[in-house]
Amino acid sequence: MEKSESAQNRAKQALETYLHGHGLRCTPERFAILEAVFNIDGNFSPDMLLEEMTERQNFRVSRATVYNNLIIFEQAGLVKRLLLGGSIRFVLGWHENCNMSLVCTGCGKVTDIQDRKIDTQIHDLKMRRFQMTGYSIQVFGLCSKCSQALKRRMKKIENKRNK
Ligand SMILES: [Zn+2]
Repeated sequence: MEKSESAQNRAKQALETYLHGHGLRCTPERFAILEAVFNIDGNFSPDMLLEEMTERQNFRVSRATVYNNLIIFEQAGLVKRLLLGGSIRFVLGWHENCNMSLVCTGCGKVTDIQDRKIDTQIHDLKMRRFQMTGYSIQVFGLCSKCSQALKRRMKKIENKRNK
C-alpha cells in the first residue's frame, strides 16, 4: 500500500471532493481521522483507530465519530472493509483502480493486486435490479513470512515425532 506524502495528499483531496459533493462538512476531525488511518500499519479495527487517535495523537474523539467517519471513508473509496476471523477490520484502500486484496490470515498483511480480466468480467456481469457502485475481492492465504514460519513449525513437530 502506497503511504507516501503525495498519496496522503491525494486521499485528502478525494475526501474533500467527496464531502463537498455530498453536502458534508469538512471538519478538522475528519482529516485527523484520515491521518490516523495513514499512520496505522496494516488492517485495523475501529477501536484500534480510536486508540491511535486518543493515545498517540492526543486527539479527543468519540467512538461513534470514528466509526461514522470510517463509513464515509469507505463510501469515498479511501478505506476497504475486511472480515477477518469474524471481526470487522478496515484497511487503507487508497490505490486508484485497485480492487483485489490478498489477505494473510496469519499476520493480517494486505497486498493489493490488479487484474484487468476479472475487472472486465465483473463490469460485464448482468445484475438484475441492482446498480453496482463498486466491488472488492479478498483472497485469503498466507504471506511468504507466515508460510515459512508454518513450515518451520511443522518441521519441528516432525523432528520431535521421529526422535
Ligand atoms: Zn503473514
